[in-house]
Amino acid sequence: MKNRNQVFDNVLDLVGNTPLVRLNRITSEFEGDFYAKIESFNPGQSSKDRIALYIIEEAERKGILSPGDTIIETTSGNTGFSIAMVSIIKGYECILAVSSKSSADKIDMLKTMGAKVYVCPAHVSADDPRSYYQVAKRLHEERKGSVYINQYFNQLNIEAHYQSTGPEIWKQTGGEITHLVACSGTGGTISGTARFLKEQNPNIKVIGVDAFGSVIKKYHETREFDEKEIYPYRIEGLGKNLIPAATDFDVIDEFVKVTDEESAHTARQIAKTEGIFAGYTSGAVMQAIKQLGEEGRFTKSDKVVVIFPDHGSRYMSKVYSEKWMNDQGFFDSVNEVSTQKIEY
Ligand code: PMP
Repeated sequence: MKNRNQVFDNVLDLVGNTPLVRLNRITSEFEGDFYAKIESFNPGQSSKDRIALYIIEEAERKGILSPGDTIIETTSGNTGFSIAMVSIIKGYECILAVSSKSSADKIDMLKTMGAKVYVCPAHVSADDPRSYYQVAKRLHEERKGSVYINQYFNQLNIEAHYQSTGPEIWKQTGGEITHLVACSGTGGTISGTARFLKEQNPNIKVIGVDAFGSVIKKYHETREFDEKEIYPYRIEGLGKNLIPAATDFDVIDEFVKVTDEESAHTARQIAKTEGIFAGYTSGAVMQAIKQLGEEGRFTKSDKVVVIFPDHGSRYMSKVYSEKWMNDQGFFDSVNEVSTQKIEY
């Protein structure tokens, strides 16, 4: 592992080895010690740098990729940014098929990072040839030597975190971690990290965070896909309307659901209490901690690690916009009153 007092060859040398920071105020009413793994310290400002680099380097090791080849994915989010960044450094073409629902800001950011962006209609079904899934699949089939990252269905997504995030947390806590609490989108982060940690100590409790409107929690409990669980929600990167193969449900003990509104307030509270400017799903994971804490689920000797997946700067027009919060009606409720009362 390189330390930060030296010169790095390029930004990819800075992927991983993110800091674990003690939370001092937001959890003060609960028993136990709480620590946040702050993934915005990755050069692409999110945990997705780990999977982009790992999956691309695996393809290189297998001889699938050589310079000039193409990397394809279907996301306008953090994964797209990370793949674009890795592609620039390694000399690949990066193609991202994104939904027309993606904001202009996001598309501009990906283009700035050198990606070729295909904007596909949002209203068509996944098997329509115009959908971003089908466009990505077709481009992958047409281009020899291309790699389709396919993060929701790629086991290497789990492996990336098994190889890096898990061992880092084990080392940083001196093996004393008792709980891991993390969001589940593709499920790669929680599954890979948990798989490694449970191999070291099977007693570690692993709690996934899911959104109201997502099928994941119900599927974990029943192993049945219940369409009735699915309805629109605002948090991006959390939960899903399908069952991702990149989620290993067997290493997760339980799921907790959080609301858009409470997660938004908690994200804002993290900034105000801890000075950590983190993304919307970091608010979601801390909201889950509050719910568990209020149920008395933590004891004095517990060492609880939460993962903050990305940086707050990506949410300036959402959770960190007062106008957006107002438009959602999030400032009308009692929660905002309690957030405003937290002053130090
Ligand atoms: N938070 C954010 C902001 C994300 O973009 C993602 C990835 N979709 C997650 C959390 C969840 O991570 P994972 O996909 O590894 O479950």
